[in-house]
Amino acid sequence: MPAPKIKYDLHLHTCESDGVLSPEALVDRAILNQVDCIAITDHDTTNGVLAAQNHIIAQQYPLRCIAGVEISTQWRSHEIHVVGLNVDLNSDALQTLLTAQRQQRQDRAEKIGAKLDRNGLTNSFAKAQAIAKGAVSRPHFAQLLIQEGAVDSMEKAFKRYLSQKGCAYVASDWVLLESAIVAIQAANGVAVLAHPFRYRLNTASVKRLIRDFKLAGGNGIEVGQGRQSQNEFQLLTRLAREFELSASQGSDFHALSDHSDVGRCLQIPDHLTPIWQHWTQ
Ligand code: AMP
Ligand code: MN
Ligand code: MN
Ligand code: MN
Repeated sequence: MPAPKIKYDLHLHTCESDGVLSPEALVDRAILNQVDCIAITDHDTTNGVLAAQNHIIAQQYPLRCIAGVEISTQWRSHEIHVVGLNVDLNSDALQTLLTAQRQQRQDRAEKIGAKLDRNGLTNSFAKAQAIAKGAVSRPHFAQLLIQEGAVDSMEKAFKRYLSQKGCAYVASDWVLLESAIVAIQAANGVAVLAHPFRYRLNTASVKRLIRDFKLAGGNGIEVGQGRQSQNEFQLLTRLAREFELSASQGSDFHALSDHSDVGRCLQIPDHLTPIWQHWTQ
């Protein structure tokens, strides 16, 4: 009989960035859903990892929590996300980069707040800061816009205000794609290109991105993402093979909903090298 498959979810957010659950509640959810290995991958911070790991130890849960992070980067004027997995939390190279990124977030948030104030709101920055636990991110402003009755959904908050075409958009000076890979690997982690088809790039540009990512030393790409078409899954499988990249899987969970849950519908094809081979050997 083949050994039972280990259930992995290697892309998860907590309230340390723009997720809703605390690290402890996220761990409880993973246990409920019978996940065996998670990675906490908050935007530009590793602050949630230790709390999650301590909770697992305290509860004696049969769950492994990999230290991770999702870094916002720049590549040819596009914002691209790189997930770092199995990183050393005490790496100076990584933490120095993350501190600068969070400062970027804070500077950008002040400017977004000022723009929202010019578009009918009051005291937006302070109010968003009160919503956020860590650095203020765009979803915190989206939540504020809903609270203040300016829009009735996150989608509309982004479309009208916060996305590139929105009236309160502010560009960020994120680190270069290559620098994020270097910092993750300096922390003994592996660098994974997150959700390659969520950047509004056409297929040719996605290929160019994956080629550049591989050339810069990237280790893997997300192939299994839960909510994705069969077409996209197959294309990502082919690209992982073509560029000899390992395959990762993760839900990119932020909050519980009808279409998002920890560990839901995640898989990668057997013939690809799983990213967890880097730390289970
Ligand atoms: P930031 O990192 O502050 O630029 O915010 C980006 C985050 O906003 C992403 O990680 C998503 O969690 C969220 N996001 C981006 N676009 C949308 C959207 N259209 N609707 C809801 N959430 C979004
Ligand atoms: Mn997010
Ligand atoms: Mn992302
Ligand atoms: Mn994410």
